[in-house]
Amino acid sequence: MNKHIVIVGGGYVGMYTALRLQRKLGKELRNRSVRITVIDPNSYMTYQPFLPEAAAGNLSPRHVVAPLRRVLPKATILNGMVTKVDHANKKVTFVPGEGEPREIPYDLLVMAAGSISRTLPIPGLTDIGIGFKTVGEAIALRNRVLHQLDVAESTDDVEVRRRALTFVVVGAGFAGVEALAELEDMAKDSTRYYRNIKPSDVRWVLVEATNRVLPEVGPEMGKWTLEQLRERGIEVKLDTRLESATGGHVVLSDGTEFDAETLVWTAGVKPSPVVTEGDLPLDERGRIKTTTQLTVAGTKDAFAAGDLAGVPDVTNPGQYCAPNAQHAVRQAKVLGDNIVRTLHGQQLVEYRHKYVGSVAGLGLHQGVANVYGVKLRGLAAWFMHRTYHLSRVPTLNRKVRVVADWTLALFFKRETVSLGEMEHPRDEFRAAVASNRR
Ligand SMILES: Cc1cc2nc3c(=O)[nH]c(=O)nc-3n(C[C@H](O)[C@H](O)[C@H](O)COP(=O)(O)OP(=O)(O)OC[C@H]3O[C@@H](n4cnc5c(N)ncnc54)[C@H](O)[C@@H]3O)c2cc1C
Repeated sequence: MNKHIVIVGGGYVGMYTALRLQRKLGKELRNRSVRITVIDPNSYMTYQPFLPEAAAGNLSPRHVVAPLRRVLPKATILNGMVTKVDHANKKVTFVPGEGEPREIPYDLLVMAAGSISRTLPIPGLTDIGIGFKTVGEAIALRNRVLHQLDVAESTDDVEVRRRALTFVVVGAGFAGVEALAELEDMAKDSTRYYRNIKPSDVRWVLVEATNRVLPEVGPEMGKWTLEQLRERGIEVKLDTRLESATGGHVVLSDGTEFDAETLVWTAGVKPSPVVTEGDLPLDERGRIKTTTQLTVAGTKDAFAAGDLAGVPDVTNPGQYCAPNAQHAVRQAKVLGDNIVRTLHGQQLVEYRHKYVGSVAGLGLHQGVANVYGVKLRGLAAWFMHRTYHLSRVPTLNRKVRVVADWTLALFFKRETVSLGEMEHPRDEFRAAVASNRR
């Protein structure tokens, strides 16, 4: 046997599948009868549930990612994008960060490229909107919120100040509510260092097209979350859509209009565009059509799982597994085992997991949870949120660093400086060159 396993995407599914294969195929990897290649534009896996805490400055950005080359020493990691899958000829087109695209042949394929933000053709959205899926977006948002406080403190113009201090989040699922709650908490905390900004001067607006927030924790806890957000002074607009945001002028479907410098878009996800570039079958929602055994329907030697896959939920006939980490991690384990079974000519097993509910952080010492029917709120839920994610974040190294960050935060006030200039590191040097020319 001389088999090459190519894994497209090094996120939850990709990294955990490779980790499982690394453990189960030790002998084959040593004698080189099996090779594993993981392809991802980044050299790390992002632990997305910690992005809101990274945005709020409770965790260092480096501690919410797991370095793929360290976690997967027996796999080859290639950084770049897969842009096409030709499963009929068993090859993918790989576009590296630098250099010419090339084709990579494989024997077994794992599609694990996750999802991207699902946007709508709303005027102005691309000009001022920012998503909340990557560590880059989370940190840019942190810098932006703090920078807007600096702008507001430093201007005499009432309109500029009002616009700077208005923050809009569209989409009240996990990502939106957690991002908003953590950033609002951080901004409120930071206002104590500004002489002319009171917490009540900062306006947060959460826009949601349906009539509920945080459906992941169920109706009762969702209602509690809504009340909690409103008590904090956050304007939550249900059954409302963003109509336009041209030049930062926000228009909502309920007739409200105002200016905002910051708009976060977290209104859902859709499968990575790579799924449409090739010959893998798609379901009616544009995800890779997947069987209960996590193989790509109607094919041999191709597997898929996670946000890009339409995996039938065998615990809930007629439904599909929701795109979340709870499924992604467990699917990766079964997927890895099924690859090993394929290599050994054994019968594949089904993926079966009943969704157990969720925990969400809503800022320091605040949270909401509904897990195995146990409903918690406030401090207890926040503690559960932290302990659960600490147990889940990959590698002992990350766990220790996360605990260290949280422990330091107990004794010292959080960092509240905007390092936005890190996004334009050459500006200072360019200005120096220009000045020397004069
Ligand atoms: C802010 C936030 C908070 C969340 N909180 C929770 C939570 O508390 N609980 C929960 O269960 N879920 C949560 N989720 C959802 C969860 O993170 C996702 O469902 C999970 O990451 C899906 O895993 P995946 O492997 O399918 O995709 P990902 O983990 O996103 O991995 C996909 C990988 O593929 C790479 N990739 C993309 N395109 C290509 C390409 N063309 N070629 C090569 N590589 C590519 C990407 O760079 C990425 O590394 C949260 C999500 C967000 C954004």
